[in-house]
Amino acid sequence: MKPVVFVGAGPGAADLITVRGARSLAQAEVVLHDALTDPALRALAPNASWVDVGKRGFCDSTGQTRINALLVRYAREGRAVVRLKGGDPSVFGRLEEELVALAEAGIEAEVVPGVTAAIAAAAATQRPLTRRGTGRSVALTTAMTRSGELRAARSADTEVFYMAGRQLGALARRLADAGWPADTPVCVVSRAGWLDQVASDHCVGTLVEAALLHSGRPTVVTVGVGAQTLSAARMQGSPKMQRFEPHATSQ
Ligand code: SAH
Repeated sequence: MKPVVFVGAGPGAADLITVRGARSLAQAEVVLHDALTDPALRALAPNASWVDVGKRGFCDSTGQTRINALLVRYAREGRAVVRLKGGDPSVFGRLEEELVALAEAGIEAEVVPGVTAAIAAAAATQRPLTRRGTGRSVALTTAMTRSGELRAARSADTEVFYMAGRQLGALARRLADAGWPADTPVCVVSRAGWLDQVASDHCVGTLVEAALLHSGRPTVVTVGVGAQTLSAARMQGSPKMQRFEPHATSQ
């Protein structure tokens, strides 16, 4: 049996997949894919059967069980199987369930990383997620709990929230409850990495304004130091940014 290869497709647009991911697709006979991925990726595996497991109905736990069963079935048939996931497979991708299912069936797996949405949003907006001296930690956080409840936290200098796009108003309230000051910068990016990506700047106190702009689109919300614009950073006159530090070794 060939190992099942989990491939991160990146944030959507086909040209953001890794070279290794594209090579795995070229060798694939079956590709199980999520809804978020660009149809143009199909050109990378023209001879494979493409099975859409990202549709509604596959999202609940029954759906997950069916995906696990399909992975095991195709691998046991001796086919080269790629499990293509949006972004990076290791970030909010239900990778654990699928790896466990394969391990229990005695099937090997490989994981090819991808560009996760937080990173794509940072690139799209030219907002480095880490900043020397001020932005030393980044948290990737899901705003949704398993029961569909919205949660926010303040556990890092920069917190990037996934899966909050539909409830930005509620997220703003939860952020305030979590202790983020009302003037903390917030950058909202939807469809990061696509030609029609949209980015908007807010602060915790005004985040609700973003709701209409990003409605119905996959969205990440970056809160804290990493959301600060470069011009704001320059105006603050951070000495670390202005001074030439030839021997700087730490962030
Ligand atoms: N494994 C994926 C995340 C899957 S969870 C990754 O690493 O990116 C789905 C959530 O990811 C969405 O609700 C949204 O918050 C975020 N997301 C996925 N693609 C996105 C994109 N192109 N732009 C902005 N957010 C995106």
